[in-house]
Order: sequence, then C-alpha cells, then structure tokens
Amino acid sequence: MTGSYPTTPAQKSGEVDSAYLHPYACFHCRKSFKRANRFEAVLPCPECGGPSIGLTRKFKPPKRADTDQWKKVEALVRAGFLFWSVDEPYPDALQEVAAFAERHADFIARERARAPEAYVQIEAALSRFR
Ligand SMILES: [Zn+2]
Repeated sequence: MTGSYPTTPAQKSGEVDSAYLHPYACFHCRKSFKRANRFEAVLPCPECGGPSIGLTRKFKPPKRADTDQWKKVEALVRAGFLFWSVDEPYPDALQEVAAFAERHADFIARERARAPEAYVQIEAALSRFR
C-alpha cells in the first residue's frame, strides 16, 4: 500500500478486490463502512448521508455503543491520523491522544504535505460535527 491519493479515479467496475477494501468511518453514526478504494478521502455515509472519513485497513472500528472509543478515534482523525502505522501502537484512550499527536507531529506534517487536498476534505467534513 502506497497510501497515495490519486486525483483521477481509476476504478474499473466489476473489478473490486476485497483485498483493497478500506474502511470509512462516520462519527455521527459511529459506524464504519468498507469501500472499494481510497480514491476519495471523504465519502457520504450510506446510513445518514453525512461525511465518512477514509481510513487505512489498520483501523478497527469500536463497538457502536463505545462512545469513548469513538471519541478517541475522532480525536485521532482530527489530529490528522488516518491509521497509518507509526512506530508505536495507537493510543488506547482519548486522554492519550494529545501526547501521541505531539510525538508524531512530524509524521502528520509529512502526511498533510503529501495529501493536502485529502486533509482539506477531511477537515471540511469534520467541521460539520463541531
Ligand atoms: Zn452516518
């Protein structure tokens, strides 16, 4: 996985390989949905029509009732973490997110520089939940 965000969709119909499914998380529904590819940083949630955020396959959605864990995931995404691997496990609790984000500020700066349009879309989507 390169993690790149192609600007031109190249998806061919009928050639969806489940190995390339990626989760999209909706923080309104607290649900995630698998989609064929990450051509879009943000896609409409099939449940509520609101924005859902494309994450890497390392993302494991919390249980819907586990609002604390969903808040943590949302805080991570707001901090710019789309569940790319970093050199330590992702934090277990919301209170750990700020320090985690600080430790990986350089990584996030590189991610933002690499995919600025994606982060613009993600931030616009998240601003609807504020
Ligand atoms: Zn939704």
